[in-house]
Amino acid sequence: MTRDGYYGPYGGQFLPEILTATIRELERTFKDAQADPEFFAEYGRILSTYSCRPTPLTPADNLSRRFGRGRIFVKREDLNHTGSHKLNNVIGQGLLVQRMGKKRVIAETGAGQHGVATATMAARFGLECTIYMGEVDVERQRPNVFWMERLGAKVVSVTTGTRILKDAINEALRDWVSNMDSTHYVLGTACGPHPFPSMVAWFQSIVGREVRAQVIEECGKLPTRVYACVGGGSNALGIFQGFLDDPVELVGVEAGGEGVRSGRHASRLASADASIGVAQGYKTFFLQTDEGQMRQTHSVAAGLDYIGVSPILADLRDRKRVRFESATDLEVMEALALTVKTEGLIPALESAHAFARAFTEAPTWGSDDVVVINQSGRGDKDIFTIADAFADPAWRSFIVTKAGGGHA
Ligand SMILES: *Cc1c(COP(=O)(O)O)cnc(C)c1O
Repeated sequence: MTRDGYYGPYGGQFLPEILTATIRELERTFKDAQADPEFFAEYGRILSTYSCRPTPLTPADNLSRRFGRGRIFVKREDLNHTGSHKLNNVIGQGLLVQRMGKKRVIAETGAGQHGVATATMAARFGLECTIYMGEVDVERQRPNVFWMERLGAKVVSVTTGTRILKDAINEALRDWVSNMDSTHYVLGTACGPHPFPSMVAWFQSIVGREVRAQVIEECGKLPTRVYACVGGGSNALGIFQGFLDDPVELVGVEAGGEGVRSGRHASRLASADASIGVAQGYKTFFLQTDEGQMRQTHSVAAGLDYIGVSPILADLRDRKRVRFESATDLEVMEALALTVKTEGLIPALESAHAFARAFTEAPTWGSDDVVVINQSGRGDKDIFTIADAFADPAWRSFIVTKAGGGHA
């Protein structure tokens, strides 16, 4: 950062003119908050009483023994309220909303996790809340829609376009343009127009601050490398920021889907399939056609299934500070099964990408290496996908009798 909100050549603010004053107000409020030590202290206090901060660092000794190289530790973002690191970001933005004196928040959501987190924050802070969701996703994510509505949010089912995440983003932007004086748009990851990438990364940096101290306390030294999955990039940036100035190898793991050569994946920085473009208010690597049409992405993990990626991460790749890899759906299911059985941990399918890549690389580790894997969320939400993948017949019959049909 930053020439006018750029991160290297990426980022920027590509927004309708009419939003200029609103985005300036947000930039100003964010800058003031960063300069005020009491702000981050208050943020930490809320998360320690409302969520589970500091989240533990769990030594995964059974896995370490199995691979026979180094020591593996797992950072437990799954223990946050609502089940992932996403709560960190929405609580931070909620505090900024209070500072700006706004009364309403909107958000878009694909898989529904960010929608649930935002609706939870809105309930906690007494804000009106509208969540935009593609009609296809509303059908697929009924349990999350149920909870958003119980939490008091209005869920708008978007029926335009292909009725998925990108259409929900367009509708949310339209709402923001019409209601910008009363409304803040809660972006869910370190993407979008500046200042969102640095703002979301700043809130998530609490993960890296904690884990750096925890590893040193436990091992008396820094870790050798840190693995995190990358959707938009917020959990990865959160943990990586603890080590940017240290001699620690940082590995971002994207969704390899059916393989990076299959065309059915969501690897922007770990494949050669993405190219630089401008969409959704910012410049970064997008999975797009030569004509700039967004391509269909694929991943077993809905939270990693995204066409763009944080401009901060794109810049960190150029500067060779973060290495990007991918893990396939199959590798992820295997890593998940192994982690559940060996360690009793249940990572989200997103997080399991970080585990999968770590396991693939384990034979190259040294015996004194200390390895940290970010468990960005819990896997309970993935029960439908996982049960399907493992072809569990008892689960199928349960769903048929309880719900009168399959979930798909
Ligand atoms: C949303 C989500 C992700 C992906 O988002 P990032 O911004 O890349 O962190 C990863 N893990 C979990 C559990 C999620 O819910």
